[in-house]
Amino acid sequence: MSLVERDLKVIWHPYTQMKTALPPIPIVTGEGACLFDENGKKYIDAVSSWWVNIHGHSHPYIAKKVAEQLTKLEHVIFAGFTHPAAVELAERLLALLPDNQKKAFYSDNGSTAVEVAIKMCLQYWYNKGEKRTKILAFKNAYHGDTFGAMAVSGRSAFTAAFDSLLFEVEFIDLPNSDNIQSLKSQISNLKPGLACFIFEPLVQGASGMLMYEAEHLNELMAYCSKEGVLLIADEIFTGFGRTGKPFACHHVSEQPDIMCFSKGLTGGTMALGLTTCTQQIFDAFLSDDRLKTLFHGHSFTANPVACSAALASLDLFLDGATAINIKRITDLHAGFALKIKSHRKIKTIRQTGTILAMEWETGTDTSYFNSLRDRLYQYFLDAGIILRPLGNIIYILPPYCITTDDLNYIYSQIEQALEEISSPL
Ligand SMILES: *Cc1c(COP(=O)(O)O)cnc(C)c1O
Repeated sequence: MSLVERDLKVIWHPYTQMKTALPPIPIVTGEGACLFDENGKKYIDAVSSWWVNIHGHSHPYIAKKVAEQLTKLEHVIFAGFTHPAAVELAERLLALLPDNQKKAFYSDNGSTAVEVAIKMCLQYWYNKGEKRTKILAFKNAYHGDTFGAMAVSGRSAFTAAFDSLLFEVEFIDLPNSDNIQSLKSQISNLKPGLACFIFEPLVQGASGMLMYEAEHLNELMAYCSKEGVLLIADEIFTGFGRTGKPFACHHVSEQPDIMCFSKGLTGGTMALGLTTCTQQIFDAFLSDDRLKTLFHGHSFTANPVACSAALASLDLFLDGATAINIKRITDLHAGFALKIKSHRKIKTIRQTGTILAMEWETGTDTSYFNSLRDRLYQYFLDAGIILRPLGNIIYILPPYCITTDDLNYIYSQIEQALEEISSPL
């Protein structure tokens, strides 16, 4: 039996309608921005394997550091114990974040990093004896797939089966110069009881790479801070250079109270979650009363192997070559965007740093719309490119090491698709 046949017998894949999905593609090796299947066919990983990879696949330096760690210490309980990799990673990462970030709480993926952030905020007010339990979030937000993370995400087809069970959250539109004043008055009406505001800074990934201005985010952050509302910046997707700066929060002057990280944290090598917070939040849990403890932890909290992958990834991230690559991709994206933005089949095209997203014209024919996503996905796979459209939105966010040749090839295939994939117009 082939690997795919064996897979189809035993595996249930994520975000996949198993009845209608095409069989999965068996990948056996990865190098740089590319993945290779059993027959040696090359795929350019233009989506960084669900947005996690930043330095390329099977990076030899990360592999070496991980192997060294594995032979020293693979895991240790993190309550009552500590280890060098966790401490060093917290020290080095906190030094790169807005300077109010003082403490690091580890977990093991993005959704759990968000759960921790929400619990920190709600219990902060509980510990202080103030009744603040309402949470503010953006419409269309995506913060993960566990229940708390789903609750603070926009209601959608993904959450429909659970909507009645999700706790209530106040949702506001993304800010722009027209609505910013009205958003502030909406927040003001929620004021008594508003515990925190969670947001994806600058780019909402899962909802289709929706982008908004740093200036407006800054204004909302300042307004919430003034009201004592705690700010949670979910940098799980935007962190580690995606937006052109090390963290999206570097685009604003206000500072969040809490930040969440995962995805690129380990360079995309393995699962790790991290939630950082201010001294003020940490201090609200200090007490002789044991009830004020943050009772949260996962078996693999601060796994030493994951922390060592993150440390190795950080070494590469801080190397000058990575910043040059980020700039190179940003410039190439901008050039390509300029070239195709007036194409009749491009509805809009938008860019923040290394993230480029284009919305395809769908006309009014919804059956065409539904099939467009699948046709685009297959078109690029056939061309040896992994692009996973979100509906009619195609986005490119490659590992930073992608070659200029590979990037130009992706652009040329997009141009070809614009000509070849029949339009309903
Ligand atoms: C992916 C993502 C998450 C969830 O992370 P997982 O590791 O997939 O649980 C949360 N927030 C944002 C902004 C994300 O992009």
